[in-house]
Amino acid sequence: MNIFSGLKEIVETDYPLANRTWYGLGGPADYFIRPKTIEQLKKVVQRCNENNVPIYVMGLGSNLLVSDEGLRAAVIKLESDQFAQIQFSGEQVTAWAGAELSKLVLTCVQKGLSGLEALTGIPGSVGGAVKMNAGGNFGDFGSAVEAVTVMDRRGSVFEKSKPELVFDYRSTNITSKFILNARVKLSEGDPEQIMRTVKEVWIYKKNNQPLDTRNAGCIFKNPRDAAAGALIDRAGLKGLQIGGAVVSEKHANFIIAQKGCKSRDVMRLIETVKQKVKEEFGVELELEIEIWG
Ligand SMILES: Cc1cc2nc3c(=O)[nH]c(=O)nc-3n(C[C@H](O)[C@H](O)[C@H](O)COP(=O)(O)OP(=O)(O)OC[C@H]3O[C@@H](n4cnc5c(N)ncnc54)[C@H](O)[C@@H]3O)c2cc1C
Repeated sequence: MNIFSGLKEIVETDYPLANRTWYGLGGPADYFIRPKTIEQLKKVVQRCNENNVPIYVMGLGSNLLVSDEGLRAAVIKLESDQFAQIQFSGEQVTAWAGAELSKLVLTCVQKGLSGLEALTGIPGSVGGAVKMNAGGNFGDFGSAVEAVTVMDRRGSVFEKSKPELVFDYRSTNITSKFILNARVKLSEGDPEQIMRTVKEVWIYKKNNQPLDTRNAGCIFKNPRDAAAGALIDRAGLKGLQIGGAVVSEKHANFIIAQKGCKSRDVMRLIETVKQKVKEEFGVELELEIEIWG
């Protein structure tokens, strides 16, 4: 029996995840599911639970490396109109998980609302930006988020707000499986000043990151009191290549996938970089990207 009977229009099988990741890498998922409503999402979760199908939640795939073998699992993506809404109420914005972060930033800028400029140039969805507490030198998403609405693996929907909701460096204390939306508090600002900041952040990104390549942003988190990219650079690893994967010359914490690259090439290069940095500086680098499968 088809375990997703009655939900055929939102379920695809044997779906190539390479189509959905920034790396353009990764094998097939047994199920790729795009629920249109919260009710449908609940049904999908229930069927997965009943049939012991593991669940992965995917945003825009900009922080992921999916194995070449793919996943014997259901990959769920919240991208329908309902899940991509951005609702404004004065200085408060409710952004749904499937909305593009860049669209949220731009719309706020256009409305003269300040608080998200630091996120300029970061790809991804609102859900992914909450989960990863996306940000950098200029600030992070968590500083602006007041509350999130989540759904757990039993299908219960509830809100978690500050101070119970905590954001840390590239992480949060959200344990529920699905982030449905985030309530963001902004402040009215001078539109010209906001636009100036956006441009400054954008120019910084363009000058410092290999944006025109296939990558997943920074591979490693910065260790305490050091920049992972600087350690990799000082270890002489810029340009190091395994198969189709190469350490970026522009930013050593980026690994670029060239033509013909496989996920396993990126994984082997990650291991090599980790090992060399450990040998050289005694520092154990920790992954910022997520490896699935
Ligand atoms: C060129 C480039 C530059 C980048 N620069 C930065 C940067 O400056 N700062 C930075 O922080 N990051 C950066 N990144 C990494 C990436 O953009 C962020 O981590 C982003 O927030 C990931 O969002 P996503 O929607 O693509 O998530 P995905 O990559 O799809 O998923 C990432 C994680 O979020 C989870 N997730 C996604 N949606 C949901 C949801 N609705 N509910 C629950 N969990 C969910 C996934 O399960 C996974 O654990 C960069 C990436 C690229 C390719």
